[in-house]
Amino acid sequence: MKCPFLTEMTVVFCRAYPIRKFVPKARVQTASPCNHEKYVACPLFQEISRRLKEIHEEKAELEEGGKALKAGGA
Ligand code: SF4
Repeated sequence: MKCPFLTEMTVVFCRAYPIRKFVPKARVQTASPCNHEKYVACPLFQEISRRLKEIHEEKAELEEGGKALKAGGA
């Protein structure tokens, strides 16, 4: 028999935020930018997106450099 205080609920959290804060899904407001296409205006979303873009660009540059080295016979 389980404790009567034990309960289950669906929660949501932001993967971009450094600390995981679980919010019951029922408490997320429909007007929240997280739950709407306005998420693109979120400063956290913009910062993480910028960093991811930089990482992809750096990776592409490194791969190009590696290809150039191989083509040069190194
Ligand atoms: S909108 Fe911002 S706070 Fe909301 S989930 Fe996206 S990154 Fe996180």
